[in-house]
Amino acid sequence: MKSSDCMSGFNGAKFCWMNGDVIKTDKALVSAMEPIHLGIFEGIKAYLEGDLRGEGQQNIFAWEKHVSRLFRSAAVNGLQMPYSKGQLLEAAKTTIRANEFTSNVYLQPRIWPKAGASRSKPESHVVIPAWEMSTLLGSGNPAFARERRFIVSSWRRIASDALPPQAKSWANYGNSGLAERESRRLGYDGAILLDNRGFVSESTGACLMIVKDGVATTPPVTASILESVTRDFLLKYLPVDVGIETEIHDLTRLDLYASDEAFLCGTGGEITPITSIDDIKIGEVYPGPLTTRIHDYYSRVVSGQIEKRRNWLTPVWS
Ligand code: PMP
Repeated sequence: MKSSDCMSGFNGAKFCWMNGDVIKTDKALVSAMEPIHLGIFEGIKAYLEGDLRGEGQQNIFAWEKHVSRLFRSAAVNGLQMPYSKGQLLEAAKTTIRANEFTSNVYLQPRIWPKAGASRSKPESHVVIPAWEMSTLLGSGNPAFARERRFIVSSWRRIASDALPPQAKSWANYGNSGLAERESRRLGYDGAILLDNRGFVSESTGACLMIVKDGVATTPPVTASILESVTRDFLLKYLPVDVGIETEIHDLTRLDLYASDEAFLCGTGGEITPITSIDDIKIGEVYPGPLTTRIHDYYSRVVSGQIEKRRNWLTPVWS
């Protein structure tokens, strides 16, 4: 996924939630002196039921996992969390309802210290912007099969003993931005970063999986990745629901080149197939057959079509 896809709606929809109230997004103003660079955030999606395109109601995918990571990120960065998980869920639902979205929705809860906050007086802003977002999911969606040429960036992924990638801090995305801009400058669609040991880490805004001999493999958390909700979901359920074996182990740059298929996974990136890495074509068929099966499976999960995984969905309108 390009991080810019995620950032494209940065101005948000008509309404957002800020410090306890739904307000007009253009009234969600703070002083330029706010320490926003110390902030953290979360990226969450709510999908329409059914075919992801028609009329319908949205369900938030993996709310509990995302909100738990939000709390962990806040704790790591020493941010005070003024609301409970339950209050944030109500806030998220209220934001979607207020905007009367008729499509799939991206929510981006953001937390940062208020100006003047200190250890003895910790106080945080909590804002939930939302916007409608296009999707690569859905059966026969042409956006899924679009070609995507990636490079291995010359930038290394931030090391976990410097700026922990497991916390979703804005600061981490300076690293993503460097790799993203490098790929654009060279005329590519995106970048994969190696970690500080030289093993494959992740992309700029999504995790990476490769397929080799029918097995889907992804780098471990110790390879400086964000602990992706989507990656965890796929690791857990691909073997049982789709019959695809999964593995977690370090990958070299050569493993990428020699893979049968490669794809990104993430909330924004969903299941994004990769055509080539460093101009080396991945596999013989694009998108690869397992990537396509995983895409179809994930599409059905988030749109509520797999009964036994409906407990991963939180209805917005009830
Ligand atoms: N890595 C990075 C750097 C990301 O920004 C994201 C998107 N949140 C992911 C991985 C995927 O994480 P998730 O599946 O939880 O969205």
